[in-house]
Amino acid sequence: MNFADRFRPKPRPAADAAAAEPKAQPRAGRAAATIAARLTFEAVERRYQSTLALAGISLDIAPAEVVCLLGPSGCGKTTLLRVASGIERPTSGRVLINDQEVAGPARFVPPEKRNVGLMFQDFALFPHLTILDNVAFGLKALPREEARREALAALVRVGLERYAGDYPHIISGGGQQRVALARAIVPRPAVGLRAEPFSGLDVQMRERLQEETLALLRETRATCLIVTHAPAEAIRLGDRIAVMRAGRLVQAGKAETLYRNPADLFVARLFSEINEIPLHVEGGALRTPIGVFAVPGLDEGDAAILCIRRRAIRLGRAGQGLPGRVLHTRFQGDLAVLEIAAQGFERPLLTLVREWEVPERGTEVSIAVDPESVLVFPAEGWRGDDAKLAPQAAETSGIQAPRPR
Ligand code: ATP
Repeated sequence: MNFADRFRPKPRPAADAAAAEPKAQPRAGRAAATIAARLTFEAVERRYQSTLALAGISLDIAPAEVVCLLGPSGCGKTTLLRVASGIERPTSGRVLINDQEVAGPARFVPPEKRNVGLMFQDFALFPHLTILDNVAFGLKALPREEARREALAALVRVGLERYAGDYPHIISGGGQQRVALARAIVPRPAVGLRAEPFSGLDVQMRERLQEETLALLRETRATCLIVTHAPAEAIRLGDRIAVMRAGRLVQAGKAETLYRNPADLFVARLFSEINEIPLHVEGGALRTPIGVFAVPGLDEGDAAILCIRRRAIRLGRAGQGLPGRVLHTRFQGDLAVLEIAAQGFERPLLTLVREWEVPERGTEVSIAVDPESVLVFPAEGWRGDDAKLAPQAAETSGIQAPRPR
């Protein structure tokens, strides 16, 4: 009998099985369902001496919604998780779970009473406990055998039941992450909080684990807040993405919305590779060799940044559009990056072409740009400095797709 078999329930007559051991069956291949909760942050601030780690975050996460918190190092993502879990108290503002205040002026509910599961970046399995006991660790409230059966079901779900009786060091880093994932889902928290769950893994393992996590999140239907530095990960996992910078929430929405209508240059850069062209408003618009773009909200002479997505530049034969010349090509796998000297632009434009369509250096080409994919931002308000608070970052969302005229 292998280790996992020892925890499989023995067959027994149906009537007394239900009465005596209702949770006896490990749910092979299915994760146990959770009753998801709404998680709400209302103007949450967290100050550490002179550092304002959270500068008034308001975010409402619907039951069973998966939201990825995305932002550069030090922008306050972990602090927000810690505040949600109850490890940290907000300096001001409120946190609510299912509309009940769990942190705020009126009340503070300690972490163990919130039904919130927090999975840290350093997921630290206990080396002296078996993999099964590591997973069962969070189920102290259950009788030991029942806890181990639940833990085994979670291990079945992540495909590691055959290692149940082994110690963590014998499995790979990716395997250990999976064990940590099993440990995180087994108590069925109503809200799951995850800090950088996939850091330190190779690309393939990361993608596999992302897929598995996504499947598990959908099955368990837990509300989930996941911290990440990686836009691709946020796009893949999140129903919505909340972008933070310097303690503020810059923009929250579906990945498509953030891609199409980024609130500012910072968000645009996260989701797209762009050419940034500094210009000034002239005659009420930005005048460029590829078109004239309206600039709602900007005054005559104001500095602006015109953004052309690399993907939006189409190349054609010379003589069919704006003249350009290929200066340089860079192989990048399926796509290659081309540097093009384009007439009327001071600096070369970068564009992407399929690897098998790369022209020779020096080739004369023509350039066309889809005006719908051009973005315009005020040059003020984004200083490119992550370490400081960017005033009005959340208010610079008036970035309508500019209309060519
Ligand atoms: P990373 O992605 O690197 O983990 P983060 O976005 O999670 O960063 P936080 O760890 O939340 O950022 O930190 C936000 C800010 O608060 C940083 O400036 C950090 O130095 C500061 N900070 C966090 N915890 C403390 C603390 N206990 N004492 C003092 N300052 C702190």
